[in-house]
Amino acid sequence: MWRIVTKPRTIGQALTKVGEVLYVLPSVPADAPDELKDAIALRNAATVAGRCSCGAVIAEAGDTAQLMHEPGCVASDDAIAEILARHETGG
Ligand SMILES: [Zn+2]
Repeated sequence: MWRIVTKPRTIGQALTKVGEVLYVLPSVPADAPDELKDAIALRNAATVAGRCSCGAVIAEAGDTAQLMHEPGCVASDDAIAEILARHETGG
């Protein structure tokens, strides 16, 4: 059974360069649950594209930019946290 030991170590970071922009994106181990891999893949693709299929569009927020996913989007913070919590508890 796949089990999360700690979130920071479980979800690492991967560097992806697109044009002149370097993205620091989350990465997950190969043995992570498929639903977590799918959610992270969608989130990463949306981050690089600047928009998500849920309708979110990247917007400047101070010195950074944010992509605020719609409630219920599998790539949202809440959805990914729910997946992590479910797998941490073995459910
Ligand atoms: Zn989204």
